[in-house]
Amino acid sequence: MPDETRWPTTPPQGRIAYVNGRYLPHAQAGVHIEDRGLQFGDSIYEVVAVVSGTLRDEDEHLDRLERSLREIRLTMPVSRAALKLIFRQIARRNRLHNGLIYLQVTRGAFRRDHPIPATKAKPTLILTARKIDTASAARNKANGIAIVTTADERWARCDIKTTQLLANLLAKTDARKQGAYEAWLIDREGFITEGSSTNAWIVTGEGELITRALSHAVLPGVTRRVILEAAAAHQLKIVERSFTPDEARTAREAFISSATGAAVPVIAIDGVPIGNGAPGPITLNVHQIYEDWAKTHAEKPVLRA
Ligand code: PLP
Repeated sequence: MPDETRWPTTPPQGRIAYVNGRYLPHAQAGVHIEDRGLQFGDSIYEVVAVVSGTLRDEDEHLDRLERSLREIRLTMPVSRAALKLIFRQIARRNRLHNGLIYLQVTRGAFRRDHPIPATKAKPTLILTARKIDTASAARNKANGIAIVTTADERWARCDIKTTQLLANLLAKTDARKQGAYEAWLIDREGFITEGSSTNAWIVTGEGELITRALSHAVLPGVTRRVILEAAAAHQLKIVERSFTPDEARTAREAFISSATGAAVPVIAIDGVPIGNGAPGPITLNVHQIYEDWAKTHAEKPVLRA
């Protein structure tokens, strides 16, 4: 396996990126050194999963992209229809049966200065694709994952999917150092907001699914939204409210949700086993409900089998 974390020292073979209208091998793809995405994190991103050659929740991700762009006063760099074509091209050119498509829109390259340039922006559009390790995703679902809790040190607009992820990645790194898969972030009032790259859920003794209500404090996860809709259709009880680390540690079950892994069971929080310390049946049911929903709503595969 090539060590892709060391790119560009060891360029990934055969991967194709899209930058501003061109499809290029990764080693040749790049942006201007004064791009505001690089200089200021003045940029928005999205992650869309490709499962068995099919794009998951594409329109929901595009809805959120449009919203995030609007919130930072940036317009879509190309039309939604054009973006859908680029998604399909990048999936095909990377032979992406199971993987992730990453998209970034930055405000473009300008002489470095904090205020948003008054001249019409020329946004930078970047798409990359990466295969996912389906075996490791299956292991996480089968075995469950551990969580640690830590202070939420992010900015006040976590509902915007910006590439400014420093607080998220510091929290995730510390979690990994402690042998956990994800960090759940605690706000100043002592409630869990979400994970560093996932939404956080618990299941109460009564079998209710609990996840934090949407606000500026959390990312409106696409998987979260789909789970809420699909679970409600299956008459599962759902409450959108805040919960504390104490309530989480004594919950019947817990799980995380994201485009990368749907619903993944949490088996320990801060070293305390959740339930009997194994993936819970309600979580596994939610995972299945999400998968079934995704299959029924799937468009035709972008790759031929
Ligand atoms: N919360 C945060 C902070 C995230 O970064 C992500 C995904 O990147 C999520 C939640 C889950 O969102 P989605 O289900 O749209 O992948």
